[in-house]
Order: sequence, then structure tokens, then C-alpha cells
Amino acid sequence: MQVNQSGKLSNVCYDIRGPVLKRAKQLEAEGHRILKLHIGNPAPFGFEAPPELIQDMIRGLPEAHGYSDSKGILPARRAVVQRCEQLGIAGVDVEDVYLGNGVSELIVMTLQALLNDGDQVLIPAPDYPLWTAAVSLSGGTPVHYRCDEAADWQPDLDDIEAKITDRTRAIVIINPNNPTGAVYSREVLARIAELARRRNLLIFSDEIYDKILYDGAAHVPIASLAPDVLCLTFGGLSKNYRVAGFRSGWVVLSGPKEHAESYIEGLDILANMRLCPNVPAQYAIQAALGGHQSIEDLVLPTGRLGEQRDRAAKLLNDLPGVSCVRPRGALYVFPRLDPEMYPIADDVRFAFDLLEQQRILVVQGTGFNWPSTDHFRVVTLQHADELEEAIGRIGDFLETIRR
Ligand code: PLP
Repeated sequence: MQVNQSGKLSNVCYDIRGPVLKRAKQLEAEGHRILKLHIGNPAPFGFEAPPELIQDMIRGLPEAHGYSDSKGILPARRAVVQRCEQLGIAGVDVEDVYLGNGVSELIVMTLQALLNDGDQVLIPAPDYPLWTAAVSLSGGTPVHYRCDEAADWQPDLDDIEAKITDRTRAIVIINPNNPTGAVYSREVLARIAELARRRNLLIFSDEIYDKILYDGAAHVPIASLAPDVLCLTFGGLSKNYRVAGFRSGWVVLSGPKEHAESYIEGLDILANMRLCPNVPAQYAIQAALGGHQSIEDLVLPTGRLGEQRDRAAKLLNDLPGVSCVRPRGALYVFPRLDPEMYPIADDVRFAFDLLEQQRILVVQGTGFNWPSTDHFRVVTLQHADELEEAIGRIGDFLETIRR
């Protein structure tokens, strides 16, 4: 008997862990050393979790044997409310905070609760592909709006407006952005908020990198500019606190919740159905948000993240026919390959060939719903020496495909 996957998955794709990674694992099992520039998981690269966070989780363990409230434990939700107050997100109460097994679970949950078949959601291109996948899985239609590389990857507001239809329910922003490293200006955010206000759209704002900022870049939560728009703001411990394996995140609802009672009921049903997020990891949230923010040292020009991002951007820009916007936040660079010099018809093939020939693992640009085959993403978590070696080898590979 042939067992087939559900038709619901026909448009669902998540290439960060796709076939190129599968091949890399095979090569590794055969004893090859692979330089991994493909995934934003800080711990394997020697980034340590803040000790107070680990201690609080251990201290909480004896209390963490049972299920918690399906939205999560109160001290953690209170800590998230307090963070919203600091950020100027008004009117948030503990009932407006849902904890989750990472932001990933909450992205799927909040879209499942919202979308009817054929409802459209505006998503940036390039994007973090879970957003597109989760909209498709929920029966919705992802509609990509352009982010403009020539304008430091800021969203193209005219393109957003042109793509709003009667079926558009929401707009997604990822700020700071994965994969581009863009941090959106207050003006751009205010204009997106204004569009949402005028066209009755919800805003989904993925702010999981809100503390990973370089060169003094300032992060503005869009919800703080739009108290009259229903906003869902996502955050978590995976990146800012380097504990991606704990699977701990949250989403906060703000704005006119009185107009969203039915949606909130739907969210509650889904939160109840998953019983609760992993309880021990919820105990880390209060300590993380209230403790010393060691990430602030890491992102300085002399800190490991600041230095590595600098090095990666410079080395890539020094390669002939390669250009990249210097990231102002997050953990990635999204370089462009000049198509005149490097005519790439299939960028999955490009990623495979780079892996086979140079043992470098990257994710191709189309994996982030970028519409052309002229970009790829580099994760800047590797130590500077490894980054230098990897980018050198990318340069060697490019020489072999140069026109
Ligand atoms: N959102 C963005 C933009 C991400 O880059 C990631 C992970 O890379 C996630 C969400 C998922 O985060 P979590 O580990 O909290 O599920």
C-alpha cells in the first residue's frame, strides 16, 4: 500500500532543513568536515546561555513536573508584560500573552486560528520561510511583498499597498530581519501601521532578534506605534539568550482586542489543544528578561557577534561579483551574486555543488522565497577564522562557475 502525504502539504516547504542538509549529513557520516553556515543555532558555535537562566530553570524543575496553564506560567507571562511596558506596547495584560514551544509553534497556532481557505497574508520576500509555510498549511495564500536591497532591504511600501486585496487579512513583518539583517526605521514601521489601520489588517511582527542589533541600531516594536491596530508581537529565548534548544517563546496580543473575541477564542482552543508548552523552559523566561543582558556585549564591534558579522560582510563584499548589505541586526548576511558573472539557473544546484566541491553548507535564496536565483544566506555564528576559511572557499567555488 502506498501512503501519501496530505494534500494540505502540497504548497508547504521549509528548505533551511531541506535536501542539501540531508546530503551534508551523509557527507559528515562519511567523515568529511563540513563548514556549516546554514542555521541560526548559536549553542553549537560556543555561545553560552546566561548562567542565571540555567539556574532558574534548574530551580524550577521540581515545580515543573505537571502541565501548566495552557498559556504558560504566570511569572513568565508577567515578565513578558513588563517587557512590553518597557517597550511602550500599551494595554497588555497577562491574558494577552501566550507562551509556546518556540516562536515556531506560535506562528503556526496564530495563523491556524485566523485563516480561512484562500485568505491572503502579506509576507516579505525574502522571508523566514516558516511564515510562508505556515500560511499555506493553514489554507491561506501567501502573497510576497518586495524588500528593496537597494534601500538596505527596507520593505517596499508601494508594493505592499498594491498587493492588498479584499482577501488580505494580515501583514507579516520580520524585524530585525532574517535573512537580510535589516532593521526597520520608525518611519517605515509607522507607514506599515498606517496601511494596516486603513485597510483593516492584523499585524504579525516577528521580533525574535530584537536584541541582536549592530552599530547602535534601534529596534522599534511596531505595536508601540499602533495601539489602535490588532498586533501580534513574537519574541523568545532562542536567539537573544542562545537557548534555541529549550524551545521557549511568546506572542503578545495588543490593540483593540474587543473586536477580536472570536479570534481569541480560537487561539485559546488551539492553546488548550496543545495542553501547554514545555514547562521547565518557561522557568527560564523571567530570569532571562530580568537578568543581565549579556547579548549587549556580544553585539558590540568588539563582541563575538559584532566582529563575525563585520568579517563576514567584508569578506563577501571583497569577492568579485558579490555584494551584500551590511546587516544591522540578527545573525545573517544575504549576499547577491552578479548574474552577469555567475549565471545560476538553479540555486538549489548551486548550494549542492558548493557542498560537494568545497564542503560548505549554505541555504539558497529561493529557500527564503526570494524570486530569483542570485542570492544565498550565510549565518554569521561560526568563529571568525572558520568564516574566513568558508568564505575563501566560496570564492574558490565561484571562480569555477564564473562566466
Ligand atoms: N522567527 C525567525 C525570524 C527565525 O529566524 C526563527 C528561527 O530561526 C524563528 C522565528 C523560530 O524561533 P524559535 O526557536 O523560537 O521557534
